[in-house]
Amino acid sequence: MTDTQTAPSAEGTETAELVEHWIDGAPASGDSDRTGPVYNPALGVVQRRVRFASTEDVDVAVEAAARAFPAWRDASIAKRQQVMFRFRELLASRTDELAAILTAEHGKVTADALGEIARGLEVVELACAMPAYTKGEYSENVSTGIDVYSLRQPLGVVGIISPFNFPAMVPLWFFPLAIATGNTVVLKPSEKDPSAAVWLARLFQEAGLPDGVLNVVHGDKVAVDALLEHPTVRSISFVGSTPIARYIYATATANGKRVQALGGAKNHMLVLPDADLDLAADAAVNAGFGSAGERCMAISAVVAVDAIADELVEKISERMGRLTTGDGTRGCDMGPLITREHRDKVAGYLDVAGEDGASVVVDGRDPEVDGAPDGFWMGPTLIDKVPTSSAVYRDEIFGPVLSVVRVDGYEEGLDLINASRYGNGTAIFTNDGGAARRFQREVTVGMVGINVPIPVPVAYHSFGGWKDSLFGDAKAYGPRGFDFFTQEKAITSRWLDPSHGGLNLGFPQHD
Ligand code: NAD
Repeated sequence: MTDTQTAPSAEGTETAELVEHWIDGAPASGDSDRTGPVYNPALGVVQRRVRFASTEDVDVAVEAAARAFPAWRDASIAKRQQVMFRFRELLASRTDELAAILTAEHGKVTADALGEIARGLEVVELACAMPAYTKGEYSENVSTGIDVYSLRQPLGVVGIISPFNFPAMVPLWFFPLAIATGNTVVLKPSEKDPSAAVWLARLFQEAGLPDGVLNVVHGDKVAVDALLEHPTVRSISFVGSTPIARYIYATATANGKRVQALGGAKNHMLVLPDADLDLAADAAVNAGFGSAGERCMAISAVVAVDAIADELVEKISERMGRLTTGDGTRGCDMGPLITREHRDKVAGYLDVAGEDGASVVVDGRDPEVDGAPDGFWMGPTLIDKVPTSSAVYRDEIFGPVLSVVRVDGYEEGLDLINASRYGNGTAIFTNDGGAARRFQREVTVGMVGINVPIPVPVAYHSFGGWKDSLFGDAKAYGPRGFDFFTQEKAITSRWLDPSHGGLNLGFPQHD
């Protein structure tokens, strides 16, 4: 059986490829007839359809993962590392293939797709270093003749649920560490761009991963709920919007699971009067419009101090005029949005801006496009003087819309950022080291950039926001990632010695 079968297209007139689940090392159709559309957003057409798993289909995947667990857990560290190194080599040598899948289903431009893969690859490299992160601890002779040591052991079957905006990188934040530490995985990628996950699972098999260690089930809430409720699934790693992250955290913890649940964002960039305004304008444009603003670490609100706000807005809008929007395969700067519905929702914020008294500096609703007329296009948009009461400011728009909010100085800017319900990323642009240092101490956000607009930590530091951008306290990858996918066991050991023995019912003390 191949990865894809054919099925009637959305219109029912032609046949479209059907993206299958990947269970126990092979494509699987499952028993559900439900499917969803997978668009090519640059063309605006359904290019394939994807299976939506039933609860029973998820059971089959979890059972496959559970069957694979004992042998994978018991595989030596050396063996697991060898497979991981081979996966790393294969992935590094085939990035173009994966980038093409990302561009075709998500729409992001090729250069950005390659960047996404590079950041995912970093985590695979981190996973190769698993032995150094999971060594455990040893204390000799804590009491006479007694040693105490702690081990980190895998959890078992772990679930991963990922969003549409990074169809390769976000799954790669989790499954390499989960697998390196001896767990087996059921991954439920976004139904909007599902093919990358299956491609990665197939590649891992080619690298020597035993069947059943990495399974992929596609679908919607039915599949997610089946994972959240399945008694065999020990943990859930989720990335997506805040309302769903909150739901995942509440439901999975209520079912006794370990959970990491990363949510949405509204990232601010504070520009002080002493900043290099050219650098700040470049950064705002790159971080605001890269991936058409569909990044959880995108800058969506520039907080400009009054003294330099006019000049900064002018520099930003001048740069925006140089951006090209179009088909991701044609060397444009920015691709389409993920669906027509999402594109229309994003465009609707321009009406809101008008009603709320903001001033639209650049209107991206009718962009000049290097691409097909039916693509889900929205050009770069800049809205100045956005009131903080406006939904344009408050909502995570998740599109190429950059708001400018003006403040009278550092204090007002900091208060604004700290009042946000989100706390994923933020940045300060300044040449004043003292101001930057104060900002890093005082801001209530999990990832902070100092003259760096998208402060996504490298793989060996953990990733995660504060407030409504992360539920619970478990961050992704880095040292916290290894902690998440392992459970600690402490062993107190005494080898028989003739001096030991005798009765003592008191609580153990040391001598
Ligand atoms: P989403 O919340 O709609 O979907 C995420 C996942 O949850 C998908 O797999 C989806 O199938 C599933 N899902 C959707 N609705 C569900 C429901 N009602 N019940 C159960 N499961 C459900 O998010 P999205 O639109 O795919 O991704 C964009 C969002 O993800 C943005 O809010 C973005 O900020 C966020 N995001 C956050 C980070 C981060 O690190 N904090 C990273 C990437 C994306």
